[in-house]
Amino acid sequence: AILVASSLATISEVIGELQRAAGATERLIELLNVENPIDSVKPPVADIHNLVPEISFVDVSFHYPSRPQQMAIRQLSLTAPRGKVLALVGPSGAGKSTIFELLQRFYDPQQGQICLGGVDIRHLTLKDLRNKMALVPQQPALFSSDVMHNIRYGRPDATDDEVILAAKQAHAHQFIESLPEGYHSFLGEKGVRLSGGQRQRIAIARAILKDPDILLLDEATSALDSESEHHVQQALEGLMRNRTTLIIAHRLSTIQHADNIAVMDAGAIVDIGDHQSLLHSCELYQRLVKLQFRQQN
Ligand code: ATP
Repeated sequence: AILVASSLATISEVIGELQRAAGATERLIELLNVENPIDSVKPPVADIHNLVPEISFVDVSFHYPSRPQQMAIRQLSLTAPRGKVLALVGPSGAGKSTIFELLQRFYDPQQGQICLGGVDIRHLTLKDLRNKMALVPQQPALFSSDVMHNIRYGRPDATDDEVILAAKQAHAHQFIESLPEGYHSFLGEKGVRLSGGQRQRIAIARAILKDPDILLLDEATSALDSESEHHVQQALEGLMRNRTTLIIAHRLSTIQHADNIAVMDAGAIVDIGDHQSLLHSCELYQRLVKLQFRQQN
């Protein structure tokens, strides 16, 4: 019995470690489709299919469980309207990434509601919720597998032709074809090394294949080489069309073209508007544009 108990302890430690590691590599738990205990908070009641792809935060407050003293989000209300692009900007630590974490329900807020099409996201299953959205992270994870599989992750039942079409739309087809074994080239730790911009285009192809109503984009902070930059921008424009998009923005061209920009500081929204109106009305925005968004395109 002792042996069993100790090996059980080891297993749970290993699972704990795996979960932490998974958190670090873009939430592998989600990839493995392991149901998270957060899912059982309330019984699912809403039918996902009829929901309007509009996101709203209603008076949301949140602190990370490990830091009860520090509010990461403070009484925040915000709407991302259907089919529009909402950019989130703000200094480091403002809470931009936390908004994405809450939307995907890696955590639930202690106060307030996050709604999809007017329905509290706690009333949806995690699977339905996460199927509605695709995340394009700053540094997409690649699996130790070939290019075909890496893109197909966006929709496991996609055919080879559908994968290739998605890669074309993501402006990735050309560089994939030039790899030693094309779509069968091996990626990951022991595989072909891709540049930052190429990895992003693989992630964009995944998202195109998934064809979600809602897009979460975390733009690269580091500059990509200018050819990649151009391709990534074009791929993103195609991806965003007709979808509800939230972007953690790091590029001047992104904020200039966003329908709305929410300026965040210390977990709260300081101001919302388009680029021109915020340049006139919001001192923090003026400062961010001068410091964070200078020297770009
Ligand atoms: P950046 O631009 O640097 O990515 P951000 O605007 O995305 O910043 P968040 O990462 O959302 O900001 O952080 C908001 C606050 O929550 C910060 O004070 C941060 O230190 C804290 N925080 C973020 N992630 C965690 C975590 N996993 N555990 C505890 N605190 C966290």
